[in-house]
Amino acid sequence: MQNLSNIRVVRELLSRHGFSFSKQLGQNFLINPTVCPRMAELSGAGPQVGMLEIGPGIGVLTRELSLRAKKVVAIELDTRLMDVLQETLCDCPNVKVVHADALKVDLHALLREEFGEGPVALAANLPYYITSPLIMRLLESRLPFTSLTLMVQKEAAERLCAEPGRRAAGAVTLAVRYYSEPEILFHVSRGSFLPPPSVDSSVIRLRVRERPPITAPEKELFAVIRAAFAQRRKTLGNALGAGLGREKAAVQQAMADCGIAPSARAESLTLEQFGQLAKALYPGAGS
Ligand code: SAM
Repeated sequence: MQNLSNIRVVRELLSRHGFSFSKQLGQNFLINPTVCPRMAELSGAGPQVGMLEIGPGIGVLTRELSLRAKKVVAIELDTRLMDVLQETLCDCPNVKVVHADALKVDLHALLREEFGEGPVALAANLPYYITSPLIMRLLESRLPFTSLTLMVQKEAAERLCAEPGRRAAGAVTLAVRYYSEPEILFHVSRGSFLPPPSVDSSVIRLRVRERPPITAPEKELFAVIRAAFAQRRKTLGNALGAGLGREKAAVQQAMADCGIAPSARAESLTLEQFGQLAKALYPGAGS
């Protein structure tokens, strides 16, 4: 078994396969030996649980998941890593590598085929360029994950896990809260990767909710959230008027009905307040 946290072993492996890192694919491989066991331990992997991994790289996290989970399916986009993974995971019989783009593959079909009705969780050291679109895709499409344990840029972690109503909050913060209970698990320094990225990272866990914490018409709720944050320098009234194509007076009335101050800004509102606002602006919409 190769030690995939040993920098010399990793360099030798990659040079033997003629591999060079792609910045475009966000390839920073973990070489800190403590991170993957810790991440796998906190990911919910267990003898009855299936794990989906996105972007296995050379398989360093995959191996740790494989030791704990019933089965691991790892989706990797880079064709050049297929041979590498075949070598590094050859002694992990419960791992299957799928060569695909995680942003495009039919995840509902894949999960059904690979895990049936059994519980499944997700773990990934995400390529940074797909962090937000992928998280939104995973949550919005209501895939049957119990939790998502993700390594992301530290700044993104703070935004994703911020309390709505705080400065760091953005549209994605509200969406994450709506679908899950997020928390930052631990921080990882840039020196833990090969090559080292220019920023530090954090591991976060999103426990997927069985049902949303508020009742509001969903499509309209997200239209309001998007419009509110699209022009966050403006006051909320102006941003919503412009983004939703509504008269300023109608928006101001809806805000007043919800007890929201005329000077409020998007980042100061809680998820509950966005829910109330969606109901006030779209009284006929079903929830
Ligand atoms: N899990 C490995 C680790 O921790 O060392 C590698 C993590 S590296 C940050 C991200 C990985 O995601 C790379 O292997 C990259 O090729 C892969 N990747 C990038 N875009 C992808 C996509 N759209 N779908 C699937 N994998 C992708």
